[in-house]
Amino acid sequence: MKEETLLSTDNMFKLASLIAGEPVSSGKILAVNNPYNGQLVGTVEMAGGNDTQAAIDIALKGGQILTRYERYSILDKAKTMLLDRKEEFAKLITAESGLCISEARYEIGRAHDVLLFASIECLKDDGQVFSCDISPNGKQRKIFTLREPLKLAVAITPFNHPLNQVAHKIAPALAAGTPVILKPSEKTPLTAIRFVELLYQAGLPAYMLSVLLGDTKDVAEALVQDPRVDLVSFTGSVAVGKKIAQTAGYKKVILELGGNDPLIVLEDANLDLAVTLAAEGAFRNSGQRCTAVKRILVQENIAKEFTERFVEKAKEYTCGDPADPETRVGTVIDEQSAIYLESVVDKAVARGARILLGGKRTGALLQPTVIIDVPRDAQMVVQESFGPLAPILTFKDINDAIALSNSTAFGLSSGVVTTNMDHAIRFVKELKVGTVNINEVPGYRIESSPFGGVKDSGLGIKEGVIEAIKCFTTVKTFSMPW
Ligand code: NAP
Repeated sequence: MKEETLLSTDNMFKLASLIAGEPVSSGKILAVNNPYNGQLVGTVEMAGGNDTQAAIDIALKGGQILTRYERYSILDKAKTMLLDRKEEFAKLITAESGLCISEARYEIGRAHDVLLFASIECLKDDGQVFSCDISPNGKQRKIFTLREPLKLAVAITPFNHPLNQVAHKIAPALAAGTPVILKPSEKTPLTAIRFVELLYQAGLPAYMLSVLLGDTKDVAEALVQDPRVDLVSFTGSVAVGKKIAQTAGYKKVILELGGNDPLIVLEDANLDLAVTLAAEGAFRNSGQRCTAVKRILVQENIAKEFTERFVEKAKEYTCGDPADPETRVGTVIDEQSAIYLESVVDKAVARGARILLGGKRTGALLQPTVIIDVPRDAQMVVQESFGPLAPILTFKDINDAIALSNSTAFGLSSGVVTTNMDHAIRFVKELKVGTVNINEVPGYRIESSPFGGVKDSGLGIKEGVIEAIKCFTTVKTFSMPW
């Protein structure tokens, strides 16, 4: 049964861009509508170019320097407050993104873990010591390292995990002691602003965090190009990521970009496991995860049996009202995206592919779609389709599987289903990706493990709480006679 909807016209959210906790407005208003029913979820007062400059000035002016214990305490408190407000945040994610409520609740758990792991890192010393008398050229000295926070970082986030993407940028920055200006997706700004407010309520000094929504030129591009910013941490599409790489100038840049991850099913696979991983990987979060399974590659001699079982499994992924707890696949982010995905399916069908399940669209709802006989150079195989599409392709042997898997411009993650250890090791060594998960979905990780892609998926600089904290610092060495 559908749960009480979050919003009526009386209690919709009226939020604002915040500079160090203070609302600002350029006079322009951003409206956020529910992708499922079109209802107005909330509005955001947008910032202008002057506000961008003011946010930078305030962050650089600084304020109270937080001890490690204070950073720990703020993140720890935020973690507890987030759990206390789990339903409120989950309903907001569902309302503004169309992700089903069970996925939204899962996302709160992930953001909780990000805060937990970031808080723990605050309590660990990250220095190293190098004794210098270890070679004939040595001296009686020691070299010590210490990590210093950056002056200012900018975080730019996508829509597909409205809370967790934001948490993965802000929590490591705060753990490092680095002030941040956040520019969240204009498609899901409400969850992001609510999360920023929660961090202030948890005791964060206001100068440490601002959140700005506004015209791309006035806000996002101005932040990226400002020479006073030390680091831009971006998660989003390849096109925008590459533009940032070209325009950011002399500063650190972290790019977490798109993917079209394979799940590779070998003839020796446990087929129950394989169909479950394929369905979870392709359909969870409406297929809108950078690490969603975008290509199911199956050894040809088991393809018939795998496909029959996969279609049955896929029927369990009921698609409908995101607010209904029984729904497993909500909408994609908007109708325009659903129409685009439909066109990608149509193009594959025009080239001989066959739809075995789904393929139908109503507004922003696109049914989980299973497709076979897809040409290897079809758009849905070569590019990223950010939705619940599950194309099945076959391969002959392991050489063919590796070549097919490596044949696209992306290199984010991968999953391999096999019971043969030698085969598993070969894939770990030969897939050109950031992650290889054996007998798991490509998206499996914990929030503190290193994460990030290669090729068009990223520059190989990892995120995940521990690596991200390093990015938000610089290392200083000092040495002393010893
Ligand atoms: P997007 O269109 O690239 O937008 C991402 C962010 O960039 C938004 O905040 C957007 O702002 C901003 N932006 C747009 N133009 C910009 C510019 N010229 N300069 C600076 N920032 C700019 O991506 P999306 O559609 O939101 O997200 C989906 C993509 O993210 C997919 O490709 C997915 O694979 C990728 N992703 C990657 C990872 C990973 O870890 N590798 C994780 C999640 C998602 P506006 O909203 O205001 O346009």
